[in-house]
Amino acid sequence: MTVGAAEDRGFSMDLSQDLCEMRDWVHEFAETVIRPAGGEWDEREQTPWPILEQASKIGLYSLDFFAQQWLEPSGLGIPVAFEELFWGDAGIALSLVGSGLAAAAVASSGTPEQMGEWLPLMFGETGDIKLGAFCVSEPEAGSDVAAIRTRAVYQQATDEWVLNGTKSWVTNGGIANVHVVVASVDPELGSRGQATFIVPPGTAGLSQGQKFRKHGIRASHTAEVVLDDVRVPGRCLVGGKDRLDSRLARIRAGGSAGDQAAMKTFEATRPAVAAMAIGVARAAYEYARDYSLSRVQFGRPIGQTEGIAFMLADMSASVDAARMLTWRAAWMARNRKPFNHAEGSMAKLVAGEAAVKVTEHAIQILGGNGYTREYPVERWHRDAKIFTIFEGTSEIQRLIIGRAVTGLDVR
Ligand SMILES: Cc1cc2nc3c(=O)[nH]c(=O)nc-3n(C[C@H](O)[C@H](O)[C@H](O)COP(=O)(O)OP(=O)(O)OC[C@H]3O[C@@H](n4cnc5c(N)ncnc54)[C@H](O)[C@@H]3O)c2cc1C
Repeated sequence: MTVGAAEDRGFSMDLSQDLCEMRDWVHEFAETVIRPAGGEWDEREQTPWPILEQASKIGLYSLDFFAQQWLEPSGLGIPVAFEELFWGDAGIALSLVGSGLAAAAVASSGTPEQMGEWLPLMFGETGDIKLGAFCVSEPEAGSDVAAIRTRAVYQQATDEWVLNGTKSWVTNGGIANVHVVVASVDPELGSRGQATFIVPPGTAGLSQGQKFRKHGIRASHTAEVVLDDVRVPGRCLVGGKDRLDSRLARIRAGGSAGDQAAMKTFEATRPAVAAMAIGVARAAYEYARDYSLSRVQFGRPIGQTEGIAFMLADMSASVDAARMLTWRAAWMARNRKPFNHAEGSMAKLVAGEAAVKVTEHAIQILGGNGYTREYPVERWHRDAKIFTIFEGTSEIQRLIIGRAVTGLDVR
């Protein structure tokens, strides 16, 4: 193979000029606005509206910013932005990007008209900020998405869908302007009989149930969403009724279901969630590294002891390894390369586990200080744990990878 051919393939680990500029811009906001506010909003356990407002003013909390990064040609726009935001503080950052999951659900399977109508309403505008929420999980259906009981029934006379059920642990649940809800239209078909619906702002019958008090990411609102005879117009079925009808007919005739909508959203967003975990891990690694250089015991910085330096070496290597897997998955997703070896799940698994381990090491390196709320690493450790739970637990990621590598129906 000639050198020219290698150049033509264009492989490079360098970020483009545009990505570097975007990364530095997001980092500045994370460093000057998000990081200093992390402790306060963790204690308040409330959505940090003033910070969302500040982010909106500079265009960081906006549909434009999300769309631009989502469509960035290398696929690295979202991972690079999310790593910086979550480096600042995970709870605040999740409030800033939570609407993105609902937007991704509509963008991945919706019609152009649906995207044009509903996505702007998930972000609002400066002075009138709005949120989106993606409602899949239920009290009896977390990992087992096929067990969803929320029902959607079509009423031909009025061209309306009527939704009933209870969704659990929904980020922005009940406080969002637009809720995107996965429901069963044909329970006999399990996950293949599910569809996704948009619930417009102010629709009667949708209410917030219990708001959960949490271990970490406490600035992000998590609540139940109750759907009691919620009626939405026919145009709110994501992808449209013709597409749903032909999919269901194909399945009933014994054909393939194609991609299941909720799963399609999670596949697309896994690299983004991995990048969130990397941001938290990197924050903890950097903090512990700096601390180890200034904390002196036995007459020398603790970083000069092998015990601490080896821990820092493992932390640094884990962060970089997770990032490489994440960038690979993000690049594949953007370039429509199928995750034949469960590359998205690999990124989410490794990054989530790394975040927990690295933040735990960080507490160890800070010793007694690390265990107190005077220092941020105990909060980052609490925040990190969510990344082994939501958007598919670590066990579920291993199941997906296990199936890909063995070709067997591992359960
Ligand atoms: C803060 C937070 C925010 C969230 N945001 C959202 C949101 O916006 N929208 C939404 O729809 N959901 C959301 N969730 C829900 C989240 O996705 C679920 O909690 C998650 O999928 C796990 O489901 P579960 O809690 O029911 O756990 P379960 O499915 O009951 O799992 C319990 C344990 O069993 C293990 N397990 C289950 N099945 C298997 C198996 N087959 N093999 C091996 N181990 C298994 C799991 O890995 C886990 O360790 C959120 C959750 C939290 C905590």
